[in-house]
Amino acid sequence: MSSSSTAGQALHRLGVVELAAQLDAGQLSSVEITRHLLDRLPEPQSRAGLGAFICTNAEVALAQAAAADARRAAGERGPLLGVPLAHKDIFVTRDFASTAGSRMLAGYQSPFDATVVANLAAAGAVTLGKLNCDEFAMGGANENSAYYPARNPWDPSRIPGGSSGGSAVAVAARMLPAATGTDTGGSVRQPAALTGVTGIKPTYGRCSRYGMVAFASSLDQAGPIARSALDCAHLLKAMSGFDERDATSAQQPVPDFAAAAVAPRAGAGAARPLEGLRIGLPREFFGDGVSAGVLAAVRGALSELEQLGATLVDVSLPRTELAIPVYYIIAPAEASSNLSRFDGVRYGHRADDYKDLNELYRKSRSEGFGPEVKRRIMIGTYVLSHGYYDAYYLQAQKLRRMIADDFQAAFAQCDVIAGPVAPTTARTIGSQSDPVAEYLADIFTLPASLAGLPGMSLPAGFSDGLPVGLQLIGNYWREAELLQVGHQLQQATDWHLQAPATLA
Ligand code: GLN
Repeated sequence: MSSSSTAGQALHRLGVVELAAQLDAGQLSSVEITRHLLDRLPEPQSRAGLGAFICTNAEVALAQAAAADARRAAGERGPLLGVPLAHKDIFVTRDFASTAGSRMLAGYQSPFDATVVANLAAAGAVTLGKLNCDEFAMGGANENSAYYPARNPWDPSRIPGGSSGGSAVAVAARMLPAATGTDTGGSVRQPAALTGVTGIKPTYGRCSRYGMVAFASSLDQAGPIARSALDCAHLLKAMSGFDERDATSAQQPVPDFAAAAVAPRAGAGAARPLEGLRIGLPREFFGDGVSAGVLAAVRGALSELEQLGATLVDVSLPRTELAIPVYYIIAPAEASSNLSRFDGVRYGHRADDYKDLNELYRKSRSEGFGPEVKRRIMIGTYVLSHGYYDAYYLQAQKLRRMIADDFQAAFAQCDVIAGPVAPTTARTIGSQSDPVAEYLADIFTLPASLAGLPGMSLPAGFSDGLPVGLQLIGNYWREAELLQVGHQLQQATDWHLQAPATLA
């Protein structure tokens, strides 16, 4: 089929599964899809557009697309073979500069691909470019990018959430069917929620962290962002697996997430697909701090799940509030250690003038890091310092264990846990100058991160025209169960199909 007739089908509106079906049927080539998407990207990627991308490379993308078409022509098949996507600029890539959203790494060229990037390339996915993010993934609004903020396609005066903001914007604005993100304390789930798309952070250890620029090593996990649970399932399958180059990646079998997502949970004889599923609602997730509009949307999604056969049960995660101080001690502590490698000698930015080695370090780091990164390095250095270590870091580690134990107590009463992703819908850009107030917005995503549990964000409707996300948290290695619940919800509702009105 010619590219003019395929362009008429609004290819950018198709998801991963739909694109793969057209590729399988020979109705489209990967080159046609890739060209169509590249043509739609605002030029140049800058403050003028939604700020989703930090860089693109049409030549590289089209060469990858042609290679995918050749693999199909040779008889190979696969759900991602020839499907375009892009990576959060926290993953290092050989074919594109890797900045981590920081001036420190401006123009940095990695000699290798991150394992997640390599895995997706092996599955035949085509990379269009690198997506905007908060500097070193520190933030929840994408306002900490050293380049420009990413903007929410539902209202470009608003944040898209962070730190994987560019990933969520690109998927929500139909620039791409899917993207990678990373989640340390909520950075896949929050931007997915605030832009009305689907994202899943798997169990810690599911995806290799090799080649993910490290923020907080005991928390960082890769995860896909796409427009449906089923599309996420296909990406997650390709992204996952043991990697001998990451000592924290798990030797855990990777299920066929897509097959699991579409399988009816309740078995063939049951009247309703989620019959028997117990969904735990932690009372701490439904309190005063949540806006009425978010609560109403979340409750609406929960009643859809009830109609599909699920039972709602009350549970408690009593240390929810403590997740904020615990995370904002542990994550900066690990960040201060990880970011010590940026010394102006081995990587990235180097100051022009310096008298001696100390001044080289000081000036390179002062110039290369933005204010939020410096704040985290200072907090982290403080809590790890002699005399404060026991009072802060050690206490935080003990509480982290107790937070994980609370989840296990809750999972004795339910199969999955549900609640809001964020307490409010997207705020306007520039409206939050208090970093501590900003940290509070992470209250519902941090607990699962600290426990290492999988968490998912699903579109759950709107409040005043802005998307709301439903969060599902599962027990360890049970991503398939979350994807299954998400897929059933998306079979029964159309929130995930809504697109911002500004789109053609
Ligand atoms: N908002 C959190 C932070 O600023 C989480 C970021 C993330 O998950 N990368 O640390």
